[in-house]
Amino acid sequence: MKVKTRFAPSPTGDLHIGSIRTALYSWLFARRYNGKFILRIEDTDFERSKSLSVQSILKGLKWLGLNWDEGPYFQTQRLDRYKEVIETMLKTGHAYKCYCSPEAIEAERSKQISEGKKPRYTGVCRNLKTQCANKKYTVRFKNPTFGKVIFQDKIRGQITFNNIELDDLIIQRSNGIPTYNFCVVIDDLDMNITHVIRGEDHINNTPRQINILKSLKANIPIYAHVSMILNENGKKFSKRDNAENIIEYYKRGFLPEAVINYIIRLGWSHGNQEIFSLSELKKLFNLDTINKSASAFSIKKLLWLNKYYINNLSLEYISKLLTNYMINQNINIKKGPDLKSLLNLYKNRFHTLQDMACSFRLFYEEFESFDIKFINKYLILTNLNVLKNIYNQIKNFSFWKIEMLSDVIHNESIKSNKTLKEINMLLRVVLTGNVCSPNISSVIFLLGKEKTLLRLKKAIFFINNKI
Ligand code: GLU
Repeated sequence: MKVKTRFAPSPTGDLHIGSIRTALYSWLFARRYNGKFILRIEDTDFERSKSLSVQSILKGLKWLGLNWDEGPYFQTQRLDRYKEVIETMLKTGHAYKCYCSPEAIEAERSKQISEGKKPRYTGVCRNLKTQCANKKYTVRFKNPTFGKVIFQDKIRGQITFNNIELDDLIIQRSNGIPTYNFCVVIDDLDMNITHVIRGEDHINNTPRQINILKSLKANIPIYAHVSMILNENGKKFSKRDNAENIIEYYKRGFLPEAVINYIIRLGWSHGNQEIFSLSELKKLFNLDTINKSASAFSIKKLLWLNKYYINNLSLEYISKLLTNYMINQNINIKKGPDLKSLLNLYKNRFHTLQDMACSFRLFYEEFESFDIKFINKYLILTNLNVLKNIYNQIKNFSFWKIEMLSDVIHNESIKSNKTLKEINMLLRVVLTGNVCSPNISSVIFLLGKEKTLLRLKKAIFFINNKI
């Protein structure tokens, strides 16, 4: 059997962590078994489907490297095919036209609820002898009324539904558009899907889909329903929760490698191993070790993984990602040091590209102003001469060498009777606007003579004018 999986998002918003996980599992499963992975956009809900969401879904998948072998297929481009199958089902008696008005159905529903019964369509039109011309109708699937639907879920084990609990599903709305459950079945059938890996919210749809497949004498795919992901507080993610949106992670400077590694571990394990590359996952992934309980999201762990990848992937690669990130942040990287040198010096300090871009900005642009707490502590009269001396020495440099900068700082410490630490802190504030930076001589070296002198001058001017 040639494995074929699919990712079938409804384009009603950006991709969230949960859908990325099902996409990743489906993709990996296909890759592991040299099968095919297809992308299908389930856009028959015209009111909620948006083309912007389609773009965002494609962008998210591409960013993570989850390439598809077929598609994207759009359900709205397959309407004729669905119609054709519905016609056949009407002829073979597996489906029927239902003329009940929405009001009549609603009244029946309310009555059942008030009687403490589970609301379901009672099948008024199921066995109509004559059809009503010129009357609006929906098409319903004639679900078996006895027996059970049993399937072996790859994650959750055997699942059983009694047919009597499933009412006759509407497969075509009164506007002629087929419904989600029906389209999924026809697509999975036409596209020869062997494994349906999707969210657990679809478990209840599965017996209905299996019944439709059976009525069409089709093979039943293998199902694997993945548990949900809870937020940091152990609650369901809310739809508007931005922490769930995959594009946010891209914007916040996470690496695709870290996101993939993080998501795969939300529910799947291979011993105690934490770090997985995509190529390794393609060899190891299976559905057998997926956890059936819900997983809780942890930003701390994702940050940890991101830092790991920043430090362990090649400098070339990280600098390429960072270059793009900084350009998107409107930082002109031509106006400062080589990014690779900066990365070499700093990379083990940061968790995200965003943090890096934010800190590296000062190597390319002047910073606006000094923080009041640094002004009061460092930009004071007793430091004026130190700054002036350093300025004058650097001004006379005809070479630009780290050793020379270290000597200047060292000599100034002796001359001014201040500790090296004091001088270093002062220079950090003056040159970077902050008190934390790596070795200050290296920072000055990367900042370059021109920017260093300009910032020293700015600080001297500031102290002079403060007095
Ligand atoms: N379109 C459905 C969703 O976005 C998925 C359907 C399926 O995987 O069968 O939830």
